[in-house]
Amino acid sequence: MKIAFIYPRFEKLIESRIELKESGISKKNLGDFSMPPALGIPIMVALTGSEHTTVLYDENIEPINYDDDADLIAVSFFTPQAEYAYKVAQRFREKGKTVIAGGMHPSLMVDEALQYFDAVCIGEVEAVWNQILTDFQNNNLQKTYQQLVENLDTIPFPDRAVFRSKDKYDWTAKLIQVMRGCAYFCENCIIPSEFGKNFRFRSVGKVIDELNLYPISGDYYLIDDTLSLPDEQCEAYRNELFNAFAQLETKPRLFISGSLNMSCKPEFLTMLKNAGVVNLYLVTGADPYSIRALQGDKKFIDMGLNMIETYRNAGIEVYISVGLGFDHQKLSVFDNALDFIQKAKLSTAEFYILTPFPQTRVWHKFRSENRILHYNWSKYNTANVVFKPKHMTEQQLLDGYLKCWNEFYTSISISESLKNFKK
Ligand code: SF4
Repeated sequence: MKIAFIYPRFEKLIESRIELKESGISKKNLGDFSMPPALGIPIMVALTGSEHTTVLYDENIEPINYDDDADLIAVSFFTPQAEYAYKVAQRFREKGKTVIAGGMHPSLMVDEALQYFDAVCIGEVEAVWNQILTDFQNNNLQKTYQQLVENLDTIPFPDRAVFRSKDKYDWTAKLIQVMRGCAYFCENCIIPSEFGKNFRFRSVGKVIDELNLYPISGDYYLIDDTLSLPDEQCEAYRNELFNAFAQLETKPRLFISGSLNMSCKPEFLTMLKNAGVVNLYLVTGADPYSIRALQGDKKFIDMGLNMIETYRNAGIEVYISVGLGFDHQKLSVFDNALDFIQKAKLSTAEFYILTPFPQTRVWHKFRSENRILHYNWSKYNTANVVFKPKHMTEQQLLDGYLKCWNEFYTSISISESLKNFKK
């Protein structure tokens, strides 16, 4: 049997906000790299038995061959891709193909996805993928499949060879996932709905084995922002993980995510540094510390500035992502954000507009308050205002967002802003 994996196109920031392009900001400043899809597809390829063949069409870098002789079409997508994904499914079904859906959006909008697909995998695919293939071969495909993975160590290493034939990607850092689920429920986050409300961890040995598949000195992005949480379970795990990294003869270059309330204790910084951490992706907007800092609260601004300076002095560069449009923000948030970034002397920043992704807390809240403007999913890419903000108009939010990009990047060169990512 042959399986075609499809990753539909999605509207990038620069396509949504042509004003930024016209003002001279580089695509690369806007994070517009050609990156391979995340881990779902390479894990499914690894799970697929050698008696089958696979092919990947990533519509973001190449056209889809609708005449492919694949028996089964598997489409993986998140919300900004949903409209294209439904068109892709329709075209393949018109050709008599069976089409299944997986990924963030169909997992959370199952009934919608079932209008276009023969089956939907809800949530994690690993425990059900072989069942899907068997049912399809036996002409017994079910409408939905859903099962959490109990032991993350049973997940095979992603088969990244599926990307190797693609020479159009310009991003080489490998994504590594070390845990799933989150016991918190930040208002704009999809993780607890998608992966459950309990933390689950891979064993440290397995993570190290995965790193050993590649030249270990490469770049790795630990995609779990939960790893940095001030939570007992997360703390115990990250201590074990980073201490294991520190024992490696050759260090990886690690990119991690976190928030303004991360520890600044010298022993913590030493642990990160010894593990190979070189870059912190600092997400702001929803956590209690950045809420106060972006409201202009001096105490929290100073704490944030001190934190960034401490990390920089430890050799860890910080790349900030600023969330705009939250109900706790007023019109002053745009100047507050730019002021904070300037005082922190950050050379890399991105800005995103709050987006009510399906089944998040803000999604339910905005729907109950009749504040969702439309369900044009291609605009749910954090570069558009798709809801009625509380303390500003839609236009003021959009203008403030554009102002943040423009004012920050007109004073920073592309080489300076991307120096964090260069060896
Ligand atoms: S933003 Fe992070 S801490 Fe908050 S719910 Fe999502 S994964 Fe958990």
